[in-house]
Amino acid sequence: MRYISTRHGSQGNPAPLGFEDIMLAGLARDGGLYLPAEWPQFSKAEIAALKGLSYTELAFRIMKPFVGDTFDDTTFRRLIGEAYASFETPEVAPLKPLGDSGLHLLELFHGPTLAFKDVALQLLGRMLDQTLTTRGQHATIVGATSGDTGSAAIEAVRDRKTIDIFMLFPHGRVSEVQRRQMTTVLAPNVHNIAVQGTFDDCQDLAKACFNDLAFRDRHALTAVNSINFARVMAQIVYYFWAALKLGAPERPVAFSVPSGNFGNVYAGYAAKQMGLPISHFVVGANSNDILARFFESGTMTTSGVVPTLSPSMDIQISSNFERLLFDLYERDGVALADAMTAFRSTGTLKVGGSLLAGVRELFDAGRLDDAGTLAAMKDCLARFGETIDPHTAVGYALAQQHRRDPAIPMVVLATAHPAKFPDAVEKATGRRPRLPERLGDLLERAERADGMPNDVAALKSMIDERREMAAAPAARNKVRT
Ligand SMILES: *Cc1c(COP(=O)(O)O)cnc(C)c1O
Repeated sequence: MRYISTRHGSQGNPAPLGFEDIMLAGLARDGGLYLPAEWPQFSKAEIAALKGLSYTELAFRIMKPFVGDTFDDTTFRRLIGEAYASFETPEVAPLKPLGDSGLHLLELFHGPTLAFKDVALQLLGRMLDQTLTTRGQHATIVGATSGDTGSAAIEAVRDRKTIDIFMLFPHGRVSEVQRRQMTTVLAPNVHNIAVQGTFDDCQDLAKACFNDLAFRDRHALTAVNSINFARVMAQIVYYFWAALKLGAPERPVAFSVPSGNFGNVYAGYAAKQMGLPISHFVVGANSNDILARFFESGTMTTSGVVPTLSPSMDIQISSNFERLLFDLYERDGVALADAMTAFRSTGTLKVGGSLLAGVRELFDAGRLDDAGTLAAMKDCLARFGETIDPHTAVGYALAQQHRRDPAIPMVVLATAHPAKFPDAVEKATGRRPRLPERLGDLLERAERADGMPNDVAALKSMIDERREMAAAPAARNKVRT
């Protein structure tokens, strides 16, 4: 499998890359996002042959064409097995019917940090470590988080000798559960940084590190946010998993996906390109509805971010959307690069014509405000006895508004455990959800984080210093004790 950038051709014609290279790089050097030059195809008979497999074996079969010979089969199976052994249930992603409504919840939150991001990151952390160990290399992850990504990434790479992770979060602006899931990890390779600023400031700081190419190369910087194609790849698996349980390939299935950066629903789009019979997607937004407005009008226009009850979807520009736009621009990387540059300066991007019509056939989009979100949580508990988190609630409510054919099952992706957002759940239902047992003492554990002003120079010198210390083993031993 060879990979190209969504902006290929815009800065010369680099040779297509293999899986290892795009996994280690994250973002393409031309500013685009990597995707496969062609989607692997699964025929109807091949999909039928996947029925009844365990989650891990299914994951192996679906992902094998993407990774090619990066790992031998035994190693790849071991990495997958270890990644999903960290989940609370061997099913990994249980599928629950909601009465006989034809709606189903796909629970993606049984990993170590209680959000769906664990599904991809638990595997990505292990694939990175395996590759770096084989190559005798070290990489440094620098990332920014408004909550869920940070803890999932930290949990995925804690205690690995091949990787250091520097995670920036806005001081005082993430929930206590989210903060503690990061700061209570005391592993020597984990560096939590509480920035005096907003999430956007954190993201700008991380970006500035990547844009300094000498710094980027010196530390082998790696991005593990959802622009990394390896994350999309791991998420394709559960679309197959759910559809197979509901009658694919004979019967089509619809999916409702609470969306922020468009990574999760894009993985579903990829599954469809690979041959899985998916009738349509519902793209759920909260009041930050740039995607819903795009699907309605063909025009993408930025506006300010407003805080909502579903903070992981409080996003202004959905980074993964560029991958769908690539198809809307008929895979013309040069034209897309121009459009993205113009979008950056004008804040507007317009798509028209028959391609847009085709995409609208596949995606319904909608928005739900906070009042609607609270009502949806209450409704789901009353009608089906299921407590859902505020992100899942957006998918649940919009799924019902955008049911096209009652004979086609509709899967709502449950992206977070309700206990991750206890205040919103209590407000909606009157009941405060409890953390699962294995996380029960989270609120008592010791925390560690460094405070930092919103200052790139301070961040870079901290990374330089910590890495220098690690390179001098005597100094590292001193730090550890
Ligand atoms: C990250 C996240 C989302 C948004 O997913 P995208 O892939 O960014 O669209 C939705 N819900 C929860 C709970 C999340 O953590």
